[in-house]
Amino acid sequence: MNWSFRVSSAVQQESHEVTKLMKRQVVISPDHCTGCLRCALACSYFTTKEREFNLSKARIKVLPGWQQRDPEVSLDGECNHCGICVEYCEFGVLSRAETGTRAGPESSE
Ligand code: SF4
Ligand code: SF4
Repeated sequence: MNWSFRVSSAVQQESHEVTKLMKRQVVISPDHCTGCLRCALACSYFTTKEREFNLSKARIKVLPGWQQRDPEVSLDGECNHCGICVEYCEFGVLSRAETGTRAGPESSE
């Protein structure tokens, strides 16, 4: 498994631009989740100032199918929908979709 956690400049740029553009939200289709936890590890590493792999700090929570009948993937209230976890899911569980609402200071427009 390749654990070279490098976020593409495109995603970093997009994370910055999301405050100015249409807000995009992470959409979850958990049926094909393998429980690999790459999404959660990437989230904990890239979205915390400690820069550590720590599942307890991940804003995406995974309960894989081998722990219960159906896999569950959810985002907590701290998730900013930056999309980093989407880039690290290789199984098509995570995607992003525009919500049609504006984020940031322009949101009242
Ligand atoms: S979209 Fe949410 S869960 Fe995914 S990496 Fe960003 S903050 Fe973490
Ligand atoms: S959502 Fe994707 S990256 Fe996260 S545990 Fe499931 S299969 Fe792995």
